[in-house]
Amino acid sequence: MSVELNEPGLRDFGLMAEVSEKLFVENLETRFKANEIYTFIGHVVVAVNPYRSMGDLYSDRVIDQYRSNSSYNLPPHIYSIADSAYRNMRDRGEDQCILISGESGAGKTEASKLIMRYIAATSVRSDSERIKTIRDQLLNANPVLEAFGNAKTSRNNNSSRFGKYMDLEFDFRGSPAGGVITQYLLEKSRVIHHAPGERNFHKFYQLLRGSTPERLDQLGLANNPEQYKYLGAYGSVYSIDGVNDRLEHVAVRDAMQTVGFTAEQIDAIDQLVAAVLHLGNVEIRGPGWPQGIALPGADPSAATVVDGHHFDMAARLLGVDRTALAFSLTHRTVKDSSRAGADMRVGLNLKAAVNSRDALAKAIYDRLFSHVVHTINGNIRRDVGEPRGSVIGVLDIYGFEVLQTNSFEQFCINYCNEKLQQLFIERTLREEQLEYEREGVQWNSPVDFFDNAIICKLIEERKHGIIDLLDDECLLPGEVTTGTLMAKLNMAFGEHPHFVTRANHRSDKTLGPCDFRLKHYAGDVQYEAELFVEKNRDTLFRDLQHCMNSSTLEIVRQLFPEGPATVDLKRPLSASSSFRKSMDELMNNLLSKHPHYVRCIKPNGQQQPHMFDAELVSHQVRYLGLLENVRVRRAGFCFRQTFETFVERYKMLAPTTWPCYKKKGLTLEQAVHDIMQAAFPESGVQLRRESSGSTSGGAPAANALN
Ligand code: ATP
Ligand code: MG
Repeated sequence: MSVELNEPGLRDFGLMAEVSEKLFVENLETRFKANEIYTFIGHVVVAVNPYRSMGDLYSDRVIDQYRSNSSYNLPPHIYSIADSAYRNMRDRGEDQCILISGESGAGKTEASKLIMRYIAATSVRSDSERIKTIRDQLLNANPVLEAFGNAKTSRNNNSSRFGKYMDLEFDFRGSPAGGVITQYLLEKSRVIHHAPGERNFHKFYQLLRGSTPERLDQLGLANNPEQYKYLGAYGSVYSIDGVNDRLEHVAVRDAMQTVGFTAEQIDAIDQLVAAVLHLGNVEIRGPGWPQGIALPGADPSAATVVDGHHFDMAARLLGVDRTALAFSLTHRTVKDSSRAGADMRVGLNLKAAVNSRDALAKAIYDRLFSHVVHTINGNIRRDVGEPRGSVIGVLDIYGFEVLQTNSFEQFCINYCNEKLQQLFIERTLREEQLEYEREGVQWNSPVDFFDNAIICKLIEERKHGIIDLLDDECLLPGEVTTGTLMAKLNMAFGEHPHFVTRANHRSDKTLGPCDFRLKHYAGDVQYEAELFVEKNRDTLFRDLQHCMNSSTLEIVRQLFPEGPATVDLKRPLSASSSFRKSMDELMNNLLSKHPHYVRCIKPNGQQQPHMFDAELVSHQVRYLGLLENVRVRRAGFCFRQTFETFVERYKMLAPTTWPCYKKKGLTLEQAVHDIMQAAFPESGVQLRRESSGSTSGGAPAANALN
């Protein structure tokens, strides 16, 4: 590790001579090439993904260095953030949160694990077996979540396909007491479809490659992923360089055991993963197919489920009756108005039956993932009798996404990023302002920044925003065309400066009739509205829910609690409304905690070490709002130090403070004053009025040390 004096580039962007994107990226590049992947913007850490092992950078020795050492005395590091969050939490009893953002592959998940590792190493200072167990459970939750919720994508071999927020709870001594994980919006469409060159969730491959032959036999599986439609179609890849799915399978089972899953629970979960693979291979044909499963009383126009190994295994592994499963895959119960609203089963055509099979597969996996998270939470939960100490929340959530085609999922993800950006700007400015007020330091008005509240409102406003208009469409019975949705959106937002469609921009030939473009804070994104209604409705026919609820297996009944009794209960929230609700809860939660930020940057699109693509980085710097962050920081005071540390460090600069200010009869504050006078007589320095209390340390605060 470098020492301060020969550190390449600037360790804090607050010290830039002039704020420009070019200089910002140059500084990152200089540091990256000299193996310094971290840089501060004040308290924010900017991290560039090295795509290689960094040797000693995260070792126990380095953890020891950062432990309780003022971060400003050491090079910027992810540990600086972790340490200051931990110390704030322990010493002030104040809840903290660490928000990690950046695009896919930028290093968010790795950063979150490093933070947890640091906190685990720092907080477990006792030999208590219980505390060590809690630490191990918290650390082992990650590989379990990654197995079920991560996948290889074109941008990241281990891409998190869900958002994760984890509260680490501590007792009054600062030892780990438990945790709670909240997951957001698993990309369940991946269960049935993935782009060429990508994979389904890791778990499927691990199960096939890591299970013993006997176990595969029990599950009716072959060990070759190519045989499964959900894994094999669309020019898929089956392996990831440097990853051994077989070994991962064993490691994940071990991790699950450490987290507290029983062997039976693990087997039951694997069984459902296997059922999903079989479902994908269940063939569906048109009405009256000769090898179809005979269904007495079936609608003759209904599609047919082909009888065979995969269907058989799916029914068996799900613990449901074959006939009931075949019926519910190919029929839908509706009210018969000619018979006083009695139930009537109508047949589904081929396409609808295939959709219903895929919807069931997605629902099983999605609910299974929630079940895994729920079970982990049950195991890592703080003991009931344990009084609540303080909490450190770690947020590792999908970054802003712009793909070739952007659908409902990207809409939700980008909405989430708008919310986080709003929180970031508001809090950075507000925190800065509050700190100066607290310390009685004069501060000029904040810098100009783009307030993205207008975009948040466009999306989320009750009754008038995109989400509610979409919900209105979804409530209409029967087939809803995207055309009517587009007409409604055009009517509502035709004049909106952040909403663009063909109707209000006729000259723009890149927009199709069912496309709309949102001008996000981070750039324009064009969405294809085609599947919005369907994905937002997120319906799984009642028939399938009932069928699953009739399973002989407890786990399946738990996943599908919607038995016949609940049929007429209120409509569940739509996918976008429930996402908006979870975003509201998340924002309120984050607002109640002291925030720390890690901004991750991906240096190249090839996942390669030592490559720095300045253009790609510039784009990320822009949409992460990093320059605004520097401006806010520089509008304030970019260098802060406690009196003691400052005098100790610079006492040789003034005759009255060398070798010891006390011997010359000075107070500590006078000593600081004298040093500043001697070294920087013209600079804009302010001393905080009171020198005790805040650990933010701000005295003296100086804005002109560059
Ligand atoms: P996504 O949004 O797709 O989940 P992410 O931001 O979580 O992406 P990561 O999975 O954390 O990205 O990182 C991608 C890969 O980059 C990792 O699998 C690892 O190979 C490499 N990487 C990230 N951070 C580091 C680091 N600090 N040191 C070494 N390699 C890293
Ligand atoms: Mg990730």
